Amino acid sequence: MSGKRIKNVIRWAVIIFAALLFLAVMGFRGWRKRTFQDFRIPETVQVDDSTYCFQDVTALMHLLVGKDSALVIDTGFGLVNLKEAVNRLTDRPVKVINTHGHFDHTHGNWQFGGTMVSYKDLETISRHDDAAYLYDNFLGNPFMKLLIGKKAVERVCNQPKAEYRPLPESMSLDLGGGRIIRLYEIPGHTPGSIALLDVKNHRLYTGDMFCSGGVLLQLPESTDVETYLQSVRYTKQICQENGVKEIFPSHPECPLPVSVLDDFEAAALRYLHHERSEKEIENKTSAYGSAKLNVKR
Ligand SMILES: [Zn+2]
Ligand SMILES: [Zn+2]
Repeated sequence: MSGKRIKNVIRWAVIIFAALLFLAVMGFRGWRKRTFQDFRIPETVQVDDSTYCFQDVTALMHLLVGKDSALVIDTGFGLVNLKEAVNRLTDRPVKVINTHGHFDHTHGNWQFGGTMVSYKDLETISRHDDAAYLYDNFLGNPFMKLLIGKKAVERVCNQPKAEYRPLPESMSLDLGGGRIIRLYEIPGHTPGSIALLDVKNHRLYTGDMFCSGGVLLQLPESTDVETYLQSVRYTKQICQENGVKEIFPSHPECPLPVSVLDDFEAAALRYLHHERSEKEIENKTSAYGSAKLNVKR
């Protein structure tokens, strides 16, 4: 090929690449605007005829409808109009419970009346409700600004404050029509982390305690790994006693087979038995199979 021809090919390749990049950036900006800046109604994923799942950025929220009342489990970042999505699916009175006190599961609470959360996470919530703390620690970084847009970041940071009622240590909630929801305390990711069992449907909602992307135990409010291990074993026992085959975390992937609990148990044991590799110690992680724990040291 002559030199002139090569130059021509390169020029066209650069033009085509620039055009594709421009279209991708414009598409991404449009998607972000539609998705996060307009307080849109989230898409509904139907789990069964009375159970629904919604997504807010990376956080999952569930709606469980009974004959007399309904339960919302977690309310996401507050970037989507969850209340309207719920109203379209049920006219029953709605209760809201947070699986734990992190802002990516509590920041949509203001759309509803009072929210129930473990009193052990109230300190975490008050920190996450502080706009400056939220901006400095989570949302002010360039990645979040790029992902959800500057306006949306500001909106989440300045969300109206929600009202909280502390959850009892154990509880059975009767939604009517035989749909009973049982609460269990499973501290680890936060001291107030809970699991909610949909008894009739054999499903367990587990917040951020067993996520496929990894579990954060390195946060200031996280418990030690011994406590986390006890919670893993307690969760396994709950699943065995109630015929639970799948758990429902508050981040994708969801649901997960109950067998992942064995991997989380093994990852915790590797940490406690000093069996981690050099790399894991350096990265402050402990992993086994599909489970990864991020630990304090
Ligand atoms: Zn969390
Ligand atoms: Zn989370």
